[in-house]
Amino acid sequence: MKQDVKINPTYEEVKLKDPLPCEEVAPPRYHEYRRKWVENPKNNVVEDFPLNLDLEVTSYCNLRCPMCYRTIADLDASQDPSLGYMDWELYKKCIDEGADYGLYAVKLNYRGEPLLHPQLPEMIAYAKAKGVVDVQFNTNGVLLKGDLARRILDAGVDRVIISFDSIRKERYESIRVGARFEEVVRNVEEFVKLRDKSGRKTPCIRVSMVKMKENLEEVEEFRRFWEERGVDIVSYVNYVNYMGKDPEAEQRYVGRPVRMRDDFVCAQLWQRLFVWCDGRVTPCCGDLEGGERLGDAWKDSLHEIWVGERLQYLRRLHWEGNYKRMKICTTCTLPYTVAVMEEMGWIKQ
Ligand code: SF4
Repeated sequence: MKQDVKINPTYEEVKLKDPLPCEEVAPPRYHEYRRKWVENPKNNVVEDFPLNLDLEVTSYCNLRCPMCYRTIADLDASQDPSLGYMDWELYKKCIDEGADYGLYAVKLNYRGEPLLHPQLPEMIAYAKAKGVVDVQFNTNGVLLKGDLARRILDAGVDRVIISFDSIRKERYESIRVGARFEEVVRNVEEFVKLRDKSGRKTPCIRVSMVKMKENLEEVEEFRRFWEERGVDIVSYVNYVNYMGKDPEAEQRYVGRPVRMRDDFVCAQLWQRLFVWCDGRVTPCCGDLEGGERLGDAWKDSLHEIWVGERLQYLRRLHWEGNYKRMKICTTCTLPYTVAVMEEMGWIKQ
């Protein structure tokens, strides 16, 4: 049986180059991975290992964006043992096991800013040396400059996604609290130049906007602004009220769902697995409080977690139309956001 599973439902991208230079040089395994990313959730195919590992190299951040879960939950390092930097040994253990199973992709961030990790370039180089075809991270771009930018590039990163929500200085600085508009724009411009001068076609540089009521009118201008600066892709991610905890969600949501789908199936359960910086393993990006703890990557095998009973049970719940029986899905607003987007006619897949 095949299901109408929405893949990356809150995400939309516009390619600013045709063809994309990074795709021209991508190996066949990359295309195989992208095909599986779409097909596996729709066909209920569970590989021996996640297609992608989300490795939270740090949960610290240098900004305080008001719509971010970190800010809303007021995460505090002195109170929360899950905050910190991922140890090199833990990172290596995850990559080594993944390499044994032909791991395709890693994303090196979850709740924090990855450029804060002092070993990030070494982590990228290690994953590349182990055959990972897609090494990527999201960043706010504040530290993407100077020697660090050069080392990231030399390490062979495949994709860098810069979160940048407005091309109006005042608005940008009210959303990305702690960042300076001109500095981050310059960092992106310099990073593009650095890549181009090196003769590389990677990383693919994408600038991403969280689409909210407050910046919706900028969508088209945003595209032009970044096209002029040589980035490869702009993307728009619909605002998600993670864990339902944002007190200002009403002012941010762009629409209202008329109905919620009961047959929502979350693609992530067939695509990826999350390892927090302290080693705890969770199933998806929506589990920001670690309510569905699947194991400890310090001692458990990620393969065994991935094919294990608990995840298979959770997949079954989704596949059979019972996603609401998975506790963390009842507070995750991803199904709600998907309903909004369907209502607005924004989902194309
Ligand atoms: S909590 Fe449920 S709906 Fe949300 S991302 Fe996780 S699996 Fe998907």
